[in-house]
Amino acid sequence: LAAATAAAMSSSDNHSAFTRAQAVLPGGVNSPVRAYGSVGGDPRFLVSASGPWVTDVEGRDYADLVCSWGPALLGHAHPEVVAAVQEAAARGLSFGAPTVAEAELGEEIRRRVPAAERVRLVSTGTEATMTAVRLARGYTGRSLIIKFAGCYHGHVDSLLAEAGSGVATLALPGSAGVTAASAAETLVLPYNDLAAVEEAFATRGHEIAAVITEASPANMGVVPPEPGFNEGLRRITAEHGALMIMDEVLTGFRVGPSGWWGYENSISPSPAGGPAYTPDIFTFGKVVGGGMPIAALGGSAAVMDHLAPTGPVYQAGTLSGNPVAVAAGLATLRLADDAVYARVEEVSSILARALGEALAAEGVPHVIQRAGSLFSAFYGPTVVDGVRDYATAQSQETFRYRALFHAMLDAGVNLPPSVFEAWFVSAAHDDAAIDRILAALPGAARAAAE
Ligand code: PLP
Repeated sequence: LAAATAAAMSSSDNHSAFTRAQAVLPGGVNSPVRAYGSVGGDPRFLVSASGPWVTDVEGRDYADLVCSWGPALLGHAHPEVVAAVQEAAARGLSFGAPTVAEAELGEEIRRRVPAAERVRLVSTGTEATMTAVRLARGYTGRSLIIKFAGCYHGHVDSLLAEAGSGVATLALPGSAGVTAASAAETLVLPYNDLAAVEEAFATRGHEIAAVITEASPANMGVVPPEPGFNEGLRRITAEHGALMIMDEVLTGFRVGPSGWWGYENSISPSPAGGPAYTPDIFTFGKVVGGGMPIAALGGSAAVMDHLAPTGPVYQAGTLSGNPVAVAAGLATLRLADDAVYARVEEVSSILARALGEALAAEGVPHVIQRAGSLFSAFYGPTVVDGVRDYATAQSQETFRYRALFHAMLDAGVNLPPSVFEAWFVSAAHDDAAIDRILAALPGAARAAAE
């Protein structure tokens, strides 16, 4: 008991917590970017979170702009989501048998994105994209996949080449352990470059199973698709009998009730009305589980019914459609109404504007890019005319973010510990949280200027 108490006490100081974790977990973390490798210093070990706030082991609170990397659209520990989870947990943690709530969650996703006629629930975004790729290959009988440099689709072997997120943060070309054979089945093209896609299809079109794209990339910083880019991908894939996989793991049900697809198509619907384009397969994650491990893929019945048990493409999971996680996802989506999206948009525009003003006041060369309620800043002279691809995103002055990050942290604001990530806000970001952030920005911009 004394040893256990001593261990617990030593973890109450953040540095001891990190030292202890490093002795048992590689890098002290279970997901690389959390280790603060690119910003330096000890990652904050958190004990609780509520609304827009997170609290660390030393009792310090921070206005949170990570929001669990996206899921916390409603803010942390929303009382109705917590109640739904508690109620479900009391009825049993996992059955390994179908439940009515899984169909309800599938219906809620389809209500928001009607092209998701059939939905398969999985546990992580990685599983969703991995399954989407396998399904596209099984459906088309082809092997090649096109992805775009700077897009991150989880840690699927074939999708790690020139990936964003942690792969970008750690400046890796891909990952050790991915076989050459697997890498050879992925063609990586520059983002926002339809001519490159046309060319790839012109030479290898009959081999290409699918193009996978982030609906609006946010893992190399926020780099929105140029008008017509997603529509062009739809046209080219359809012409060549390949599928279009739109990865909405990050954007889905965050930038709007129907994800980026709904957002973009309501901004620029086709002249005939209705959506300008419709992908074959969507992947969802993050918000769809409200902070619990749920992700999903959805698409037309014709494609999705190729999944087992109706079709030959195998996919399964002991914890797929887990009842406690489904309860969290359903409660979150049911609460995510127009007022929530309006508030998230409002908070993000206040913060994006204030960040831009603070950086401008200190003469820091930068550009702020937005995609709906997602935004991020890029730093240095090479980005000021805008960032439309990964090469430009990588050319920025990352040291400026390191300084800005730590100044914000010292002032009680939790930013993503990497310049290649979006800043996430929630509908729970109230005046107190916004004031904390606004008060911290001028000093942080000064730090970034040095
Ligand atoms: N796809 C996108 C666009 C993502 O942003 C992420 C995670 O950040 C993933 C897929 C992978 O999701 P997960 O981390 O749940 O495996």
